[in-house]
Amino acid sequence: MLESEPPRSLYRETAGDGGDYPALAGARRARIAIVGGGFTGLSTALHLAEAGEDVALLEARQPGWGASGRNGGQVNPGLKYDPDAIEALFGPDLGTRMVDFSYAAPDFTFDLIKRLSIDCDARQNGTIRAAIRQKPAGAVRTTAMQCARRGMPVSILDAKAMAARTGTDRYISGMFDARGGDLHPLKYTLGLAGAAQNAGARIFGDSEVVSLRREDGRWLLETGNGSVSAEKVLIATNGYTDTLWPGLEQSLVPVFSAIAATEPLPSPVAAAILPERPVVYEAGNITVYYRIDAQNRLLMGGRGPMRPIGDASAMAYLTDYAPQLWPALAGTRWTHGWNGRVAITEDHLLHVHEPQDGILICVGYNGRGVAMASAMGSVLARRLRGDETTPFPMPISQMKRIRFHRFWPLGVRAAILSGRLKDRFGL
Ligand SMILES: Cc1cc2nc3c(=O)[nH]c(=O)nc-3n(C[C@H](O)[C@H](O)[C@H](O)COP(=O)(O)OP(=O)(O)OC[C@H]3O[C@@H](n4cnc5c(N)ncnc54)[C@H](O)[C@@H]3O)c2cc1C
Repeated sequence: MLESEPPRSLYRETAGDGGDYPALAGARRARIAIVGGGFTGLSTALHLAEAGEDVALLEARQPGWGASGRNGGQVNPGLKYDPDAIEALFGPDLGTRMVDFSYAAPDFTFDLIKRLSIDCDARQNGTIRAAIRQKPAGAVRTTAMQCARRGMPVSILDAKAMAARTGTDRYISGMFDARGGDLHPLKYTLGLAGAAQNAGARIFGDSEVVSLRREDGRWLLETGNGSVSAEKVLIATNGYTDTLWPGLEQSLVPVFSAIAATEPLPSPVAAAILPERPVVYEAGNITVYYRIDAQNRLLMGGRGPMRPIGDASAMAYLTDYAPQLWPALAGTRWTHGWNGRVAITEDHLLHVHEPQDGILICVGYNGRGVAMASAMGSVLARRLRGDETTPFPMPISQMKRIRFHRFWPLGVRAAILSGRLKDRFGL
């Protein structure tokens, strides 16, 4: 069940107007229908419309209501697993395509923003993966060496370099990848929606698809007020996946990730934290990620309560941590706190399924969808158009229900608790 209210996020307050798309009314036809108005759905709609396709997108609330309008704004390269592991798992052809595609996704995203002139505070100042202890430091070094062997623009940072780049001496090492960066995610999502609409896509807000079934050789998508009959359908509902397609909800775990934001920091304080404005995520048991935004606020994200929240009071785990990294933050006001759902898959990989003729599903970004979902839009659009000249860059798999899915909230709580304990005790 989707919550009805948008989160009271900093992004909502600063995105300006836009995102008020009308509800679907009456019976319509389209060649391709898309369910979900986040990066995946909107980027696909944009690329389809640009290719001259007749496409209608249905979003339960408004574009950017899901994770795409709430996330950490980190545009990060790569998948969860190292390139060698991906190539070993998927073989030299598909594995190499997966590596190339996922590491090129930030460039794709920044190029798209530039091409469409989307005003979303986009900056390509790099991503740092930061290690606090020896074990993650070893893992970060391994990743960096595998990336460097493939000619990627990465470097290993020692403790001194990490202190210079982050403004804290907490980290023993890290990896810098020049392709990463950040953006204002809601401005970006609304920019994508506007561009898709300008290119000819029909976008409907407040249009939750409540049933999807075969009728007269086509797919019929019904909302409370109308319907779309389409030849092909893309389901792009990620962490907000409901019961629309049988078994899809049970193939994912919709874990909440939370972000706390400070008031704009005084210039000398802001200048001492991430002075070159890369984004950082920690390589630990429970990931903490942060950046300084274009207005000099610190935005720090990580795991939080497994329920919707509307301010930073429920996020002491993050707000107490920040002054440990930068003591100058003691007494700083945390003005906003919000969260949203990321879709975690059992194998921690993105899932693309084609369970029936004309149905394409793309979900499970595992908290790394800003760049990947943007880039997936172009290849999903190609697949929906039936263009198979370029091999698809991700595996197309059978949908699998996670065993004991019913008990995921307990499992997640236990994992968070044990991760925090491990982080605290340096395990
Ligand atoms: C707090 C947070 C921080 C994050 N930080 C980062 C980060 O820094 N970097 C990064 O790469 N990734 C991050 N992510 C993940 C990233 O935001 C997602 O991977 C990405 O936005 C997924 O996009 P999407 O379009 O697939 O899904 P979403 O943006 O979640 O969109 C799915 C949409 O489907 C709609 N929907 C659901 N059911 C229906 C229905 N029946 N009918 C119509 N519409 C429906 C929902 O309303 C929703 O808007 C973060 C996520 C969260 C929540």
